[in-house]
Amino acid sequence: MPRSSDPGPARRPSARDLERERARAAGSRRLLPWALLSALGGGAIAFAAGGGLRGGAALAAAGLLFVLFLWTTSFPRCPACGARLPARREVVPPGGDDAFARRPETCAHCRAQFD
Ligand SMILES: [Zn+2]
Repeated sequence: MPRSSDPGPARRPSARDLERERARAAGSRRLLPWALLSALGGGAIAFAAGGGLRGGAALAAAGLLFVLFLWTTSFPRCPACGARLPARREVVPPGGDDAFARRPETCAHCRAQFD
């Protein structure tokens, strides 16, 4: 799919973009166990319904392809360069300094700042 909505390098990604990306990735992560269960369950049902081992495996394989796709979308990516980002913001240790918590997050790959 062409990325026609790509705003180009002129627009800096904001903290909102990052937030949205994390929410999207979290949604994919939540779906993962269900997708895996339905892939295996679908295969088991096909096998039990007389589809044989091959029929069951074929259905499970189709479901597992979807699981694989979901898995690749379950990591938040930098809105600027597409590099993988940590799933959540680093946590400031108790008693840690406040300036750390307030500084804008940056992408370790392209150094884009999200503020
Ligand atoms: Zn980046």
